[in-house]
Amino acid sequence: MAAYDDTNIFARVLRGEIPCKKVYEDEYALAFHDINPQAPFHVLVIPKGRYVSFDDFSTSASPDTVAGFMRAVATVARELKLDVPGYRILSNIGSDADQTVAHFHVHLFGGRRLGPMLRRDGD
Ligand code: AMP
Repeated sequence: MAAYDDTNIFARVLRGEIPCKKVYEDEYALAFHDINPQAPFHVLVIPKGRYVSFDDFSTSASPDTVAGFMRAVATVARELKLDVPGYRILSNIGSDADQTVAHFHVHLFGGRRLGPMLRRDGD
């Protein structure tokens, strides 16, 4: 796994060097609107620590940090009133998944019927 790079865009968002449209923040997580939304609600939830990906986070972060982060993701969805109609969470890890920002993030999609979980190969 590549080392964490402090110049990645979400590290810069966390340091306040780049603005974001914040929807939620607590000690474990920051949530903000994706700059290129794929659904009526498309929010990114990121941990505050230096984790490259879900793989890194799940192995390196403390149990409290993992639990706090997961609870924050669910809290964001409830605060956006997506829990009853439903929503989808997704995290891309590595090149086959086209992870483009090497700071662990969970995508939260909602606000409409989201359709099939995955498109076919190459779509
Ligand atoms: P991934 O491809 O899973 O690594 O997702 C990265 C996401 O970050 C994409 O959906 C981008 O649209 C989003 N993104 C990149 N830069 C920003 C930014 N400055 N503010 C908000 N979202 C961003």
